[in-house]
This record gives sequence, structure tokens and C-alpha cells, in this order.
Amino acid sequence: MGAGRMFGWGVAGLLLLGAGVVAVRTVTFQAPGQTDLSKVTLAEPIAVDADRAAQHLGAAIRFQTVTHQDPAEDRSDQWDGLHAWLAATYPAAHRAMVREDVGAHALLYTWKGSDPSLEPIILMAHQDVVPVAPETEAQWRHAPFGGEVAEGSIWGRGAYDDKGALVSMMEALDALAAQGFQPKRTIMVASGADEETRGGSVKAIAALLKSRGVKAEFLLDEGFSGTTRDGFTGKPLARLLIAEKGYATMRVTASAAGGHSSTPPLQTAVTDLSKAVVAIAGHPYPMRLKGPVKDSYQALAPQVGFGDRMMLANTWLFSPWLVARIAAQPSGAAVLHTTIAPTMLQGSPKENVLPQKAVAWINFRIAPGDTSADVMRRSQGAVRKLPVTLTWDKPPYEPTASSSTTSRGWTLIAKTVAETFHAPVAPGLMRGGTDSWFMRGVARDTYLFTPMLLSPEEEKMIHGTNERISVKNLEDMVQFYARLVRTAAG
Ligand SMILES: [Zn+2]
Repeated sequence: MGAGRMFGWGVAGLLLLGAGVVAVRTVTFQAPGQTDLSKVTLAEPIAVDADRAAQHLGAAIRFQTVTHQDPAEDRSDQWDGLHAWLAATYPAAHRAMVREDVGAHALLYTWKGSDPSLEPIILMAHQDVVPVAPETEAQWRHAPFGGEVAEGSIWGRGAYDDKGALVSMMEALDALAAQGFQPKRTIMVASGADEETRGGSVKAIAALLKSRGVKAEFLLDEGFSGTTRDGFTGKPLARLLIAEKGYATMRVTASAAGGHSSTPPLQTAVTDLSKAVVAIAGHPYPMRLKGPVKDSYQALAPQVGFGDRMMLANTWLFSPWLVARIAAQPSGAAVLHTTIAPTMLQGSPKENVLPQKAVAWINFRIAPGDTSADVMRRSQGAVRKLPVTLTWDKPPYEPTASSSTTSRGWTLIAKTVAETFHAPVAPGLMRGGTDSWFMRGVARDTYLFTPMLLSPEEEKMIHGTNERISVKNLEDMVQFYARLVRTAAG
């Protein structure tokens, strides 16, 4: 046999071996975050009065708890009104729980459990909503702060984000209190007043709980809702988010002599700034499948066909293909790396004046594994030949650590999700920011999920025009919190 032929056989043998490894791994692959939910038994459902809950959510929407970029525009009396309304509407819950006003309109409810040796559970939902853009007001089919119940839905700003959750929790806790439920494990509800502007009113709650030595078993805050058609599997899927990306805004400043625009030098503050923005933003982070994001996709293995399962089970070989497939959708691309988004620019206040200072703001969403220090170092490297300075506009928010996908908390939430919404559950990564970031260290594990299932069509109304949730979704959400609380704390 010639050397060439021997080499050929060698290559064929290696390929065959590789194919064998791929096949074995595909067949025996254990997806992460797949605890056996069949062994978990949930508490029985409660009777939910969906129409009453819908009227209540409508009433909550009518309080215009809008947070603005400039807090001076916020109407403080609207939060006071909402607080009084909560107490009047949910008397049983307010008898069972202690309510503390923790400054800046944040609320902390505590329903003391009978067994103090058990770690508490914390539910979170924020009270504030984003503004309605004046030019879109006419496009609302029902007034944005009317809280109307029509066409099978409750309409208005906050119906989805996040008064739907706040009202659902209260409906559930009030019903449980009214029927004499006594938790063994302490239940807390922590409600921030300024989540949409990242005002951090929840910081005071976190400080209070830490000063009391509270360490919760788990915390559940808003996240993504489940979808009726996931971009990867094409089927229903609920993503229970286990980590949050970091958030940081960089200020890029270029200075120059200024002067009249009729006699410009070649190099000005604006040309320097432009080059710097292009140098930073034109140098994107590579997309990688790693950490919690890798887990979140591998967890889909049981729900996809052989081809996709083969790729998910053999990321050592197929990572580039998977990355390309996930990145084909903007929401998929965003979780695969730290994103770089130039958002604001400032130069001269007059068209014929050269600025002495030009500023750009670049917003970064930092992937787990990266830090704000890495981002700064990398950006400094990109602009090292340019006369610009880089600073953080505000202190950065680092990405959070990943929570467990095998804990009792994960298992109970996942089971309640699966049973209420009839969708498989997989871990995921939060692209945006939530109030739970300020509660870091208070709970062993933090999970983010907005308990409902939406179609891709319905998802478009989040923070947009015609925000609403269906009465059926609201009913399911109440049931979700009731069963979770009864099972986890009962
Ligand atoms: Zn929200």
C-alpha cells in the first residue's frame, strides 16, 4: 500500500471516529437545567375571579405612575393614590402582611411564616410605567391611562409592564389570606417605584433586608414572558432568566480650539470624536456561545430535531454554525456578546461655530464573563491614537452571577410555569436591566420571568402603543403566583 493511500485511510478513519463521537454525544446528551419536574407536585389551583381581577388591573392603570428622565416631572400623588388603593382593594392581604413604606415610594410587604428557620421567598413587581409618546396617543384603541376592559383585554400603559404582575400577586395573596392560608416560609413582596428609569428606589429595601440579616431562598422578578413561537425551536417556550447583562454608558469627549467654521482646521473636536466613535463601535465583541447562554441553548436539545440536537450536543465542533443561526435574529445576537450602541451626540450649539468640546455617549450591555473594566480597557485601546478622553457617564452595572438551575426554587418555578402555561422551560439571559439587580446578595438565587405566554405579534406592544393583556393571561398570572406561593411557602 502506498503512503498516499495509507494517508487516505487514516483520514477516513478519523472522520469515521469523529462522526461516531458526534452521534454518541447527540444520543446521550443531557441538557442543562432539565431537573425532573414529574416528581414535583404543586398545590391545587385556587378559584380566580378573572373579571374582578381585570377591573382591578384597570383601576391600577388609571394611576399615572409615570417615571420620566427628569424625576421633577413625576407626579408623586399618583404613587400615594396607588398605595391607598392597594390597601383598600386587598384588605385580607393587608391584614396578613406587614407593609413598610421604604422611602421614595418603594413598598415592602412581609407575610411572616410559621417556621422562622426557613429562608423567605421574595416576589417583585414595579409600580412605575414608561411615558406615552404624545404623537402616538391618537393611535391607542383605548385611552392609555383609561384602564378599560374591552375586546377581552385590559388596556393601558403598565397592563403588561409591570402592573399586571403587581396586581396578580396581590390578587393571589389576597385570595390565599381570605381562605385562611398560613405560610410556613415567610413571603415578601418588594415593589420598586422607579424601575423604568433605573432610579434604584429598591436599594433601600435591599439595605433594610441586609440590615435584618435576611437571606432569601429565591427572588422572582419580571423578565421575559414566554413565547408561543420561539425563534430557535419554532415552538412554545418559557425562558426563566438566570442572569442579567451589565449596563454601562461611556462618555467620549474630544476637545479643540474651536473658532469660526469659515476657517476650519483639518482636525476638529467633531472629526476626532467621529473617528473615536467609529473606532469603538466598529470593533464589535466576537459572538460566542459560552456561560449561561450556552446552557440556555443546550437546554433546548430535547425540543428540536436531530440536526439541531446534534449541533447543541457537540458545541466543540458546531459552535460557529450555532452562533450564526442564533445571531440571525437581533435578540439572539444580543445575548452572544457585549453590545456597543452609540446613542447620543453633542457638539456646537450653532451650525457655523466649531465646538471646543464634542461628546458622544455609547451604551454597552455587558455579557457575563466581561466587566466594565474590560470594556474600558478595550475602548482605550481602540482610540489610543486619538485625542479623546473616555469616562463612565454613571457608575456601571456589572453583569450578575448566574443562578442555579437545579435549586428547589428553580424546580418549583419551572414546574409552576410548565403546568400553568403548558410550555417547556429553559434558562436564559436578561438583555435589559431589572430592579432585581439592586437586590444582589439578598437572595440565594434570582429568577426573572413575566408569567404569561405571548405570541410574537403580542410582544410588539411592550413599551409601545396599545399595551394590553388579555383577561385570560391575567387569570393565568394570578393562578401562577397563587400556586407558586402555596407550593413554595405552604
Ligand atoms: Zn418592567
